Amino acid sequence: MVSDAEEVYFEQPPYRPPSESRSLLIRATRGCPWHRCAFCQMYNDTRFEVRTVEEVERDIEAMRRVADTVQEFAQKNGFADRLEHVALHFGVLWIHDDGVKTAFIGDSNSIVMRTEDLAHILEFLRRTFPTIERVTSYGRAHTVLRKSPDDLRRLREAGLSRLHLGLETGDDELLSYINKGVTAAQMTEAGKRVVASGISLSEYVILGLGGKERWEQHVDGTAAVLNAVNPDFIRVRTLMVINGTPLAEKQARGEFTLQTPEGVLKETRRLIEKLEVGSEFVSDHVSNYLNLSGKLPEDRERLLQAVDAVLATPPDARERLLTPENLRHS
Ligand code: SF4
Repeated sequence: MVSDAEEVYFEQPPYRPPSESRSLLIRATRGCPWHRCAFCQMYNDTRFEVRTVEEVERDIEAMRRVADTVQEFAQKNGFADRLEHVALHFGVLWIHDDGVKTAFIGDSNSIVMRTEDLAHILEFLRRTFPTIERVTSYGRAHTVLRKSPDDLRRLREAGLSRLHLGLETGDDELLSYINKGVTAAQMTEAGKRVVASGISLSEYVILGLGGKERWEQHVDGTAAVLNAVNPDFIRVRTLMVINGTPLAEKQARGEFTLQTPEGVLKETRRLIEKLEVGSEFVSDHVSNYLNLSGKLPEDRERLLQAVDAVLATPPDARERLLTPENLRHS
């Protein structure tokens, strides 16, 4: 790393939301305690483990040493006002000119830890990096339901700012089909509990998850859950069927038909139309055909017009518009 004097070692989670690309990444657990969703291959090589508080705190201390070393180097060499630039030079993405601002705790469901253990980690993190303004983590709805309101409040007070929950769909038949292990009613209740705790909530939806067979019920059920929860953020992704997953096997057997790009856009349109929320609607993932970002309900018409503009494009020109490469730069 940046220090000649010592090797600095710490673990980091292999996955994080795109919105956490410049965050300090902390690994409190390894893998996924559920690991049964039919579309998912993340953590296939990782046995689920909860790391000890001491281990995680040692990692945070190591990250602090990295930050201090970058800072010392910047000061010594006359770049104190360009800390971010210096950090990037050393390959450190999470230090900005005004320090470390955001952190993400992985892997897939670290709220499964004992509440007090996670609270200690959060407090230690906030003490070690006092400039941090936002700490987020992934969580499963099922795990949220095992936490009491006091547990969730304790985590918020210890410094957990936001939870990223994988709703995927709000349709019961589809939730069962993808083996999510949670019903729409449980998804709704978990979302409401997070909102009530004061922790910001980001819900993830997978467009195309119902295939051609179930797309309308997928969208309608999803809108119903989101309308009941009213999360801070709704983030959509587009299904990518990955070889070796149970969903790929269903597809190979002809039980699941991949949605077309046009179909995914129609799903997007229908979802935006049906949402009665005060949420940020974001499609910020490389899998998406169209990058959209707006606040509902005020930006509804603008978002719908953006989708309609692509749907109105002749199919051969539309295919070119919808390549991931174009998307990334749109
Ligand atoms: S809970 Fe998340 S990480 Fe675990 S299997 Fe399901 S989608 Fe994958």
